[in-house]
Amino acid sequence: MARVTPDTVTLDAKSAAEWLRAFAAQVEDRAADLTDLDRPIGDSDHGVNLQRGMRAVVAALDEEAPSTPGAVLTKAGSTLVSTVGGASGPLFGTLLRRAGKSLGAATEVDQPALAAALRAGLEGVVSLGAAQVGDATLLDALAPAVEALEAGRPVSVAAAAAAEGAASTEPLVARKGRASYLGERGVGHRDPGAESIVLLFAALVRVSA
Ligand code: ADP
Ligand code: MG
Repeated sequence: MARVTPDTVTLDAKSAAEWLRAFAAQVEDRAADLTDLDRPIGDSDHGVNLQRGMRAVVAALDEEAPSTPGAVLTKAGSTLVSTVGGASGPLFGTLLRRAGKSLGAATEVDQPALAAALRAGLEGVVSLGAAQVGDATLLDALAPAVEALEAGRPVSVAAAAAAEGAASTEPLVARKGRASYLGERGVGHRDPGAESIVLLFAALVRVSA
């Protein structure tokens, strides 16, 4: 299980897999909502994309459970990259794969290590997609959540920061991805990828409790 010392989360291979399974379950529950968010500003496939990818991740974890949290995240990331055709596959896949590689072979990781790993994942997303915070992408939710973890804040605070970041995309003009094709017409819509990052951190809260 994930152990929680007053303000921090600790992950082992089992709780890392539980985290991703909890994320997959949230994506199943919210797939239609995520796709609806992608309708006005994209091509109505974000929920479907992530659902396909996370189903494949769960199947991969069922087939063979990796023995370290790093290997769990790496496997999940590679599975997303290879099963999701949309932008979100390579982006979420890179986030998890880079984070997993950053965790190395440790059998248990503490919050500073997890925060550093997610920072490495975020940097991977930036190198791949060339977006910055404020471009109305998943980074707007991911960056504040990672900052909260780096500051040693509880996972619930990081999750709340992700939610605030996702909400902050609504008044923005998107500068990356399909939503950027709309320019000003995209204003008033929440970024679907940012909302999925909210689910990723909500899932981490669930396994930290
Ligand atoms: P597609 O845009 O190929 O249809 P999805 O709909 O699955 O893929 O995912 C769209 C999400 O991907 C957006 O909501 C946004 O959060 C994210 N995204 C798209 N392009 C970028 C980028 N260059 N950098 C970061 N995130 C991006
Ligand atoms: Mg789409």
